[in-house]
Amino acid sequence: MLARWLEQEQSDADGWHILNELTRRSLDRINMSESARCFTTEELCDWAGIAATSNLWKSVKTWWESRRRRVRLAMCRAGVDFEPILDRRGGGGRGNRAVNSLRMVPLIEGGAEESLQETNNPDVDTATGALVVPIVEEVLYWQPNDLPVKLSNLLLRRLFSAGEMGIGSLRHNLLRFNLLGSSLFMLIFSISAVGMMVIENRPIGTRDLGLLFLVGIGGLMWWQQWRPVLLAREDRITPLPDEWLPIKAAPAQLERKRTDSGEVLRLVRYVATCPVCGGDMHLARGAPEWPRRTVGRCADAPREHVFSFDPVKLVGHRL
Ligand SMILES: [Zn+2]
Repeated sequence: MLARWLEQEQSDADGWHILNELTRRSLDRINMSESARCFTTEELCDWAGIAATSNLWKSVKTWWESRRRRVRLAMCRAGVDFEPILDRRGGGGRGNRAVNSLRMVPLIEGGAEESLQETNNPDVDTATGALVVPIVEEVLYWQPNDLPVKLSNLLLRRLFSAGEMGIGSLRHNLLRFNLLGSSLFMLIFSISAVGMMVIENRPIGTRDLGLLFLVGIGGLMWWQQWRPVLLAREDRITPLPDEWLPIKAAPAQLERKRTDSGEVLRLVRYVATCPVCGGDMHLARGAPEWPRRTVGRCADAPREHVFSFDPVKLVGHRL
C-alpha cells in the first residue's frame, strides 16, 4: 500500500529515494522477523545511489513528516487499519549504527493521542509527531561540487571554461566587447527604425507597427541575454536565465566575488533542502514579489516554500 502511494508520489528528492528503498526492501522480507527488516542508513544510501551525508537523515525525516498526514489519509481511504511509522533506533556511540525500519501501528484518530503514543519511545529519532516538531524557519545552502555549471551558448561556454573570469582580464574584455557589440547593433537598429518613421513623417501603417514590434522583441531578447552580466555588478549574485543553460540543467547563478587577485565573475550553483517538505531547493529570481532579490525556491512548491538567501552567511529564512 505504501509502495503504491510512493509510486504515485515519484520525486527526485533524496527523501523519496530512501523511503522507496526502505519500503521495497521491507516488503521483500515481510514474512521475516522484525529485526531482519531493519536497515542502516548506509545500506539504504547504497541501494538508492545517494551519497551518505551527515544531515541526510534530517532531510529524509522532513520529507516523510510533511507527508505523513496524507499517507494516513490514504490508508484510511483504502480501509487499512494500520499506518506505517518510520522508526530509527540506536546510533549513539561509535560503531553503533542507527537502524531504520518501518513499523505498522494501529491507526488512531486524533492527533493528541497519537503523538503521546509515539513519544513514549524516547530514543526514537522520529518519535516526534508533526505537531510537536518546531517549524524550522532556517535553511542552509551549500554548493554541490560534483555538478559544474555548463552553459548552452558556445561563446559563453568558452569564455567561462574555467568557471570564472577575472574582472578586467582578456576573457572579461571579450565578454564586454560582445555586450557592447550587440548593444550597438540593437541601438542602431532601433534608431534607424524609429528615425525612418520620423523622417518620412507619414501616417503610421502596418509596416511601422511591425517594425516597432521587431524592435521590442529584439530589445527583450537583448535584455534576457545580458541581464545577468549587468545585474551581477550591483547585486553580486544573480540567477542565470534559462537561455544561458542547457535544457534539463539545474538552475545556476552568476556571482561577482572579491578575491585577493581582484574581482572575478564566476558561475556557481547553490542548493539546499527545503525545511518545510524536504524537497530540493534552488536559487531563483525573487520577482514578482521581491524584485532584484535572489531567493531559494523549493522545487515542489516554488511559490509557497520560499526562503531568503544570504550570499555571505549562506543561510536563509522563510519569506
Ligand atoms: Zn518545499
